[in-house]
Amino acid sequence: MKSELSDSASNTAIPWHALEIEQTLRLQESNLDNGLTFQQVSERLQQYGTNELREFGSRKPLSILIDQFTNIMLVMLMAVAVVSAILDLRAAQFPKDAIAISVIVILNGLLGFVQESRAEKALAALKRLSSPKVRVVRDGRIFEVEALELVPGDVIFLEAGMQVAADGRLLEVQNLQVREAALTGEAEAVHKRSAGNLPENASLGDRINMVFQGTEVVQGRAKVLVTATGMQTELGKIAALLQSVEAETTPLQQRMSQLANVLVTGSLGLVALVIIGGILRTGSFKYFEQLLEVSLSMAVAVVPEGLPAVITVTLAIGTQRMVRRQALIRKLPAVETLGSVTTICSDKTGTLTQNKMVVQWVRTPSRIFKVTGNGYAPIGTFELHPPDKDKSDSILSTLNKNSYALQYTVESNIKEAVTAINSNDYPELELLLLTCVLCNDAVLQQKHNEWEILGDPTEGALLSLAGKVGMKQTSLLNQFYRVAEFPFSSERKRMSVICQRQDRNELTQIFSLRSSHLTPHPQLLIFTKGSPELVLELCTTYYVGTSTSQILDDDGVGDRFAAALHTELSFALSAEKRAYILEQNNQMARQGLRVLGFAYKPLDAIPTDERSEDTTERELVWLGLVGMLDAPRPEVREAVAQCQQAGIRPIMITGDHQLTAQAIAYNLGIAKEGDFVLNGQDLERLSTAELEQQVNQVNVYARVSPEHKLRIVQALKNQGKLVAMTGDGVNDAPALKQADIGIAMGITGTDVSKEASDMVLLDDNFATIVHAVEEGRVVYDNIRRFIKYILGSNIGEVLTVAAAPLIGLGGVPLSPLQILWMNLVTDGLPALALAMEPPEPDVMRRPPYNPHESIFARGLGFYIIRIGIIFATIAIALMVWAYNYTQQSGDPERWKTMVFTTLCLAQMGHALAIRSNTQLTLQLNPFSNPYVLAAVSLTTVLQLMLIYVAPLQDFFNTHWLSFPELAICIGFSALVFVWIELEKLFLKYFLTR
Ligand code: ADP
Ligand code: MG
Repeated sequence: MKSELSDSASNTAIPWHALEIEQTLRLQESNLDNGLTFQQVSERLQQYGTNELREFGSRKPLSILIDQFTNIMLVMLMAVAVVSAILDLRAAQFPKDAIAISVIVILNGLLGFVQESRAEKALAALKRLSSPKVRVVRDGRIFEVEALELVPGDVIFLEAGMQVAADGRLLEVQNLQVREAALTGEAEAVHKRSAGNLPENASLGDRINMVFQGTEVVQGRAKVLVTATGMQTELGKIAALLQSVEAETTPLQQRMSQLANVLVTGSLGLVALVIIGGILRTGSFKYFEQLLEVSLSMAVAVVPEGLPAVITVTLAIGTQRMVRRQALIRKLPAVETLGSVTTICSDKTGTLTQNKMVVQWVRTPSRIFKVTGNGYAPIGTFELHPPDKDKSDSILSTLNKNSYALQYTVESNIKEAVTAINSNDYPELELLLLTCVLCNDAVLQQKHNEWEILGDPTEGALLSLAGKVGMKQTSLLNQFYRVAEFPFSSERKRMSVICQRQDRNELTQIFSLRSSHLTPHPQLLIFTKGSPELVLELCTTYYVGTSTSQILDDDGVGDRFAAALHTELSFALSAEKRAYILEQNNQMARQGLRVLGFAYKPLDAIPTDERSEDTTERELVWLGLVGMLDAPRPEVREAVAQCQQAGIRPIMITGDHQLTAQAIAYNLGIAKEGDFVLNGQDLERLSTAELEQQVNQVNVYARVSPEHKLRIVQALKNQGKLVAMTGDGVNDAPALKQADIGIAMGITGTDVSKEASDMVLLDDNFATIVHAVEEGRVVYDNIRRFIKYILGSNIGEVLTVAAAPLIGLGGVPLSPLQILWMNLVTDGLPALALAMEPPEPDVMRRPPYNPHESIFARGLGFYIIRIGIIFATIAIALMVWAYNYTQQSGDPERWKTMVFTTLCLAQMGHALAIRSNTQLTLQLNPFSNPYVLAAVSLTTVLQLMLIYVAPLQDFFNTHWLSFPELAICIGFSALVFVWIELEKLFLKYFLTR
């Protein structure tokens, strides 16, 4: 591609902030309205590559490798190797063991390195799955693309909550505030403008007409011309300088490395004890070397060398299982913590409900319209509904009986729409629908015959509503040019736009608005929508645009004179009228509908101050209510029930109306009929102590703002709860960080909320949280399972080794090399297989475990000691018998191999038996975890090879066993299996009594 751009050697050198918009567009060969062409995009992708920061945010391979060898267990093993080498060399023997141990240590370190790098890569890949999407204009159409695919010259849109995906020059700006802490360290958000001509040497923080990759849009919106992507961005330039990120370890991993420290220190103590004790007992140094050999074996036996690797792998497997169920883990500790969650605070909209809004009712001050139609297709009808005579009557009860007059049965056919609307019948509906379209940031599009929306579903529903009378977003936006806006936020719960009317003649012809509706031909209008109570508060009058047909005196209060004064278009809102409107609102909310209120007002001038919403959004003219259905997700009912069974309390926290929240919470089983709902306003009045009391009872919070969410999490945590909380907006980030598990929405969530989260729901679904909790519990159960498995065997080994000299047998039964083999291979492989164990049937039928419990709690510590002693008893019994037996004939060293084999094989039985805590092995389906079967078979074969394959025999110093001898080993080792099964039977018997 030959262009001015590529000629200018390095385009990053261009001071974009010092140029006018036209210049930047020309330099980038882009177009304000149409963006780049596809041709240009693919050329530039070739030229600049994808928009990625390389080698940023992950640990350097070298540091992962070094970490492996600074692990205290490996350090100790190296020490063992050195000592053993010295012993061998002094005895003029080849230091075979030392070399073997070193090789194993290095292999183990490399293996750990590979596993950890893979786990880290997998986690990074998971994070990328939730990578931001960007709205971009290409070839004159709007697309949503991965941030990766952006190229310089693209025209993109920013809005609150987004993380800026590339560096860019602002083209159009609406009240934009950006937090640039990632780049400048400055926490305060910066107000941005599109003005050009900043001095060339302006510092990054002063380039207020630019946005930079990695910064966060806190408020407002903008249209941006991308000027740099990937490593050419300001962030890319410093990415190389940024510190590499610390490895993330889970609390359990930390506790395990502490345990390793304890064990290593303990085993060194043991070494000292054996040697000093031995010397004192014999009174001489004669046996020093023998004592040293025993103690080296014991030192190796105590430490569970295989454990860290198995834990890492299990956590990695956990994240894989979770992502298969649509839960994406962003921070490794979450895998573990999830299992202990006691409280799940969930948003309503989109998480508990489907977030597929369909408008069902429109209520203008004097009329009720029932709307039909499905999905987002702008196809459907408005049916005029007779006003309710009995106000207490539910709206729905009168539905359809007397519906008449299909006024606007129009598809997207604009001609028919014009005729329908020009019938002058329902100007109030028309103005309300106009507000729907203008006060809206969503885009309704037809794609492969399907109607879909980009943006907020609530707004999408309004577009399709207006589409049903033929109102088209594109043409209306040309006629009403947006000059300013007060964006929606969860705190404000409303949104306003200020539009300048383009005074074109077509206006009155093509689209309907007869001039009389907007007296006196205002050029500047504000349109507001939001939570009905709040918007109504801002209104002083209401609109009655009926000029020809008679005014329906629906409530008998405010409209009496309207018919006479039909030129008068707005009436003062009396207290009764307000009450009536709120009652209408409540009626719809009680059905679980999401209700929005609408208002407008002519303005004299564009407000100049960006923070002038308080003075502008007032004395509005009320237009009416729109009620939309957002059906609960069908699978959530069951998920809620499952939670309650699992001792987890689901809580709904929503910005929506109290009655809407209540209706849906009731429907889903989160609340019972008559349960108390705490409103944001009331919550505000509670002190922290009072709130802490309330949070134990309240299951539904309505009309809350993000800062209330933060208070609720804190109160729950202070009550000792382990809280998972969902959030999607920018301002939810603090609450997400505060929660034990912060959960962001994969589909509707803002980038900022995802960044702050521990986990992302790829499908935005509450049920997914429950699945993740289940997987978390499975992971924790499996970790406990193989810790029992590995440590039990370690204790058995130590006791056996220690017993030999005490009993007075000549020599050490197990060499350090053999012990290492057991700990890493014959224990390690089955332990890995145990990590794959499927959930036990009761995982979600028991209360959560205390998150602060020790890993040794609930009998685990006792189990390890108990089983260790059983192991040792069996091995020692065999050892004593075998020692005496082998001294009589043949190779007198055979007894050592018999002990070695028995210990190994006993672990095979242990692996089979430990699969379930309660069920007998015979009751389990052996193929529900085929890995255990495979690992046990493989390990047994390996062990036999050690005894019978000559080179291995040499290497591991084993001795040939006859078949009867092997059978005796198998017999003894089976006793461990029998013992554990008997324990289960005993427990069952005990429990049923
Ligand atoms: P939730 O998603 O839990 O319903 P939100 O904080 O998103 O809570 O919304 C709170 C309230 O703000 C809604 O009940 C509605 O009345 C209003 N609202 C929601 N979306 C918009 C919007 N796009 N424009 C104006 N008002 C909105
Ligand atoms: Mg919302």
